[in-house]
This record gives sequence, structure tokens and C-alpha cells, in this order.
Amino acid sequence: MPKGKVAVITGASRGIGRSIAMALAGQGANIVVVDLGQEGVDAAVAEIKELGVEALGVVGNVTVTADCENAFAKAMETFGRVDILVNNAGITRDALLLRMKDDEWDAVLSVNLKGAFLCSRAAAKVMSKQRYGRIINIASVVGQMGNAGQANYCASKAGLMGLTRSNARELARRNVTVNAVAPGFIATDMTDALPEKVRDELTAQIPLARLGSADDIANAVLFLASEASGYVTGQVVAVNGGMYM
Ligand code: NAP
Repeated sequence: MPKGKVAVITGASRGIGRSIAMALAGQGANIVVVDLGQEGVDAAVAEIKELGVEALGVVGNVTVTADCENAFAKAMETFGRVDILVNNAGITRDALLLRMKDDEWDAVLSVNLKGAFLCSRAAAKVMSKQRYGRIINIASVVGQMGNAGQANYCASKAGLMGLTRSNARELARRNVTVNAVAPGFIATDMTDALPEKVRDELTAQIPLARLGSADDIANAVLFLASEASGYVTGQVVAVNGGMYM
């Protein structure tokens, strides 16, 4: 388990990223919270510190090269190493193909895919030198299945799985593993807002007959971040209640 390890987590001020941060902190990891807003970052840092580990907040946008480089520079300044990167920051801009605007396509590809590339490149510099690292990309079941109204999002998440495999092959010799977790439908602010009928229809497609929780995703990340997964690289771990197999 990652006691004393240092984890950089993007989009960690709420939702799944926040749960991942709390789970890793619960195992004794020191956490670097990277997110867009100062208020959210400060609140996450305060909550993480209550678990008795160190936490550092960095306000940054994963689509900006300098922000990603800065997050790793600050992490190195504070902790002297980075063992784990979780590329979790992600957005949706849903629209049917015929109505999807160029800026909706660009925004989603930029955050979900380019952001993961920029942070992975910054992480690779540090982790290659250390001869140790764990990079975990948060993809999605719809990157495997497709989903009407989400051409941009599905393409970004399928791309993220390709990035995972390519980086896994490049970094394996440096003892850096790269894997993805592909969540199914997870109970978050987004899914809470759905009408009951839509939630029921979604649940009917899931063999385990419930939406997943952010903790279900955090548990898979814990494994991939741990020593126990040392012989696992280039994989996509599906955490979807069986909705896609
Ligand atoms: P969320 O609640 O919307 O949280 C996403 C976080 O990322 C927010 O804190 C957001 O900041 C931050 N963020 C957005 N753009 C960013 C940027 N450019 N730079 C830095 N941070 C940025 O989302 P979630 O539901 O927890 O999802 C987390 C990840 O899981 C995403 O990659 C998502 O695609 C994936 N996923 C979610 C589900 C699901 O059912 N929820 C299913 C499959 C996959 P703000 O608060 O400022 O917007």
C-alpha cells in the first residue's frame, strides 16, 4: 500500500477525484490536489490533512502545459518525489453528432485527452529518473461501448486507453506502470440530477443492478497504485457492474 508515497491527482476537488484522493490518503499517501478553483482545492486539502498526511493544493488547468509542469515542480519542491499520477480531470459537452459544435469537440478532447498527455509527460520525466511510478488514467465504459450524444467524450476516453497502452510500453523499462480504470455509471452530482425514469433505465442495463459509487472507482485505483499491481501494465480495469464485458 502507498504509505509515504506521493500522489498527484487532477480534478481532485470533487466527485471521483476527491474520493480517490481520500482513499490514497487513507492508506498514508501524501496528496497533491490539482484543480481549477482555489476554493475547491483548499477545501480538499483541508479534508485530506485531517487524515494525518501531507497535502498540497495547486490551482491549474490540465489543458495548459505550464500548469501541468508547475504542478510537478511544486510537488517536487515540497516532497522531492512523485510516485503516483491519477489523470482524473474530465468534462462532458454532450450533443448529437449533427449538432455538435467544434468548440464542444475541442474542449472535451483538450481536457480529457490532451490534459492526460501533458500531465503524463511531466510525470514521466520525474518517474523515469526515480525508476518507479504508477500512472492511472480514468477512462469510461462509453469509451469502450460508444454512446449516442457523446462522440467527443467517447472519442476522448477511447483515445485515453490508447495513450495508456502506448505509455505503458514506453515506460515499462523504467519500472513505471500505466493503466486505466473505466468506470460505468457512477452516482455523482451528474447522475443524481437525472430523472428517476432515466436512472431506472440505466440501472436495468447493469447486471449488478445498481449505479457504482466513487468508492468503487477509488478501490480499483488503490490496487493499481499499490505494490500489489507491480506486474500489471497497459490494462483497462472495467468497474462497471458488468454493464460491458
Ligand atoms: P466531476 O464531478 O465533474 O469532477 C471533475 C473535476 O475535474 C472537477 O473538480 C473539475 O473542476 C475538474 N476539472 C475539469 N476541467 C479541468 C481542467 N481543465 N483542469 C483541471 N481540473 C479540471 O466529474 P466526476 O464525475 O467525478 O468524473 C471524474 C472522472 O471520471 C472524469 O474523467 C470522468 O470522465 C470520469 N467518469 C465519470 C463517470 C461518472 O458516472 N461520473 C463515469 C465514467 C467516467 P470544476 O469543479 O472546477 O469543474
